[in-house]
Amino acid sequence: MKDNFGREIDYLRVSITTRCNLNCIYCGKEDCDKKEQELPVAAFRTLVRAFAKCGIKKVRITGGVPLVRADVCEIVEAICQTEGIETLGLTTNGVLLEQFAAPLANAGLDSVNISLDSTDGSTYRHLTGADVLDKVLRGIEAAQKAGLSKIKINAVLMRGVNDAGAKDLIALAKESPIDVRFIELMPFSGIGEADDRRITGDELLERFPFLQPMESQENATARYYTAEGFRGRIGLISPVTHKFCDSCCRVRLLSDGRLKPCLAYEESYDLMPYMENETALIARIRQIIAEKPAGHAFDTKTPAHGLNRTGG
Ligand code: SAM
Repeated sequence: MKDNFGREIDYLRVSITTRCNLNCIYCGKEDCDKKEQELPVAAFRTLVRAFAKCGIKKVRITGGVPLVRADVCEIVEAICQTEGIETLGLTTNGVLLEQFAAPLANAGLDSVNISLDSTDGSTYRHLTGADVLDKVLRGIEAAQKAGLSKIKINAVLMRGVNDAGAKDLIALAKESPIDVRFIELMPFSGIGEADDRRITGDELLERFPFLQPMESQENATARYYTAEGFRGRIGLISPVTHKFCDSCCRVRLLSDGRLKPCLAYEESYDLMPYMENETALIARIRQIIAEKPAGHAFDTKTPAHGLNRTGG
């Protein structure tokens, strides 16, 4: 369906938990133990069916860390079996991916995005608070083996923290047919809009002039580049310096059943009162999507919460 700005909203990011097994320095940790608020599989089935009837075609499971939920494969199956849903992806930090990759692929998952901010062990530990880089790298291999095609690595660079390792992250896309995407540090959890630790997409292009823009830019979120001899692509996701809200196509469902039309604002709307009547649920979802904000206002308004609650 279209929102009031004429944008086709067909992408739903479903955060199935706020729980997280890392403590990334740029992400929030609040609400990380609210297990009791996590919806059961049946509720996600009901909700995604209603969203599909509102025009949602693409779903991404996120969190916190979705793989901490023992029933994550049942949730994947329920969403894959929903009429109208064409693709299902999952975003994870990769720590538990080694053991879940094959079951997730068997449950019907199409693709996986893995957050990896450094390939250097001590930098990774400093950034995430955990010494699990080897597990994540094995998880990426397991995902490739399980045929979770189009693996995308998401990295957030912070000046003086991990930006020296950008070249090693870029090298991953040379050796394998994977996409490495650099997401600009966003102003959440008290990070400022003008935080000088942010490495912008434009700065990366200056640092790595060998990157050549790809002809086909499949969506407006990431601008894709490649280079001589590369098997994969480099993506630049620059929500702060290259705002792409005009072409936003997504809304977010939080793990407690609240619909959040835009990640940049605190507002989210409880769908639980409508669960017993699909017609009323669809009407409420359509109303909230229609009124989705025009775009973020990071320059004047930064959300207090971290992305662990919303799902990146
Ligand atoms: N825990 C899973 C993971 O690590 O991929 C999924 C949820 S996590 C919130 C999703 C993404 O949000 C991660 O790639 C993380 O790097 C990103 N993220 C969190 N806080 C951010 C911030 N302030 N700016 C940019 N990206 C952020």
